Amino acid sequence: MSTAVPVRPKDWVDFHCRLCGNCCRNLEGQLMPELLDVYRLARCLRERGEVEYIEDVYNLYTHVETLEDCYPIFVMNTTGTENACVFLKDGRCSVYEVRPRVCHLYPFNAFPGQRGKAFEFYQCIDQHSAHYTEEKVLVKDWMYQNFKREDREFLTAESTTLLELGRLLRALSPEQLEENLLQILYYRYYNYDLDQPFMPQYEKNTEELKRILRDIVGR
Ligand code: SF4
Ligand code: SF4
Repeated sequence: MSTAVPVRPKDWVDFHCRLCGNCCRNLEGQLMPELLDVYRLARCLRERGEVEYIEDVYNLYTHVETLEDCYPIFVMNTTGTENACVFLKDGRCSVYEVRPRVCHLYPFNAFPGQRGKAFEFYQCIDQHSAHYTEEKVLVKDWMYQNFKREDREFLTAESTTLLELGRLLRALSPEQLEENLLQILYYRYYNYDLDQPFMPQYEKNTEELKRILRDIVGR
């Protein structure tokens, strides 16, 4: 079982990655790539000729699950007897440069902060804790290197978006959800031009989706 303990930017934490790849194994149902992660993966995999559109990434490497009976999310596929992430190849991440934000930040994580703090940081205490040995990392430096400005901007916006979308989706009847599912998936996940910057498209899609859901709820 995994838990998280708060850490501060000024904390030094024992950590040394031995590149064992174990944090990419036994991940069934656990890794939910965010919209920005999938956009980056799609651009990288398109360069390699493996996909054409963002929906190809969802179709090929993830599957849909439903949260609270109303909220469709995509979960990374796993493979083999070790339930390894579908991108783990020969013990290494095959999409290392564009790996999801949680992989980038591991063994730490970040969440939007409270009481005036932009973010709060946590150290993951899980079955891989053997890597908390030998060397030390300063949390502030780790975040500077791994928590990019675009991720910070997205995570802040997404925390508000998820609250609003969750409220609207919970207000739909099961029939309304089924009738409008394709439209919801389109504006939430698929309507991205990989040649255009992410954030303006995310903001436009979110506004459009909220408008559509408010219309349905108000009918
Ligand atoms: S972070 Fe830990 S579990 Fe993951 S590859 Fe490094 S040593 Fe292994
Ligand atoms: S995307 Fe890469 S780093 Fe993240 S779990 Fe998969 S193989 Fe590991």
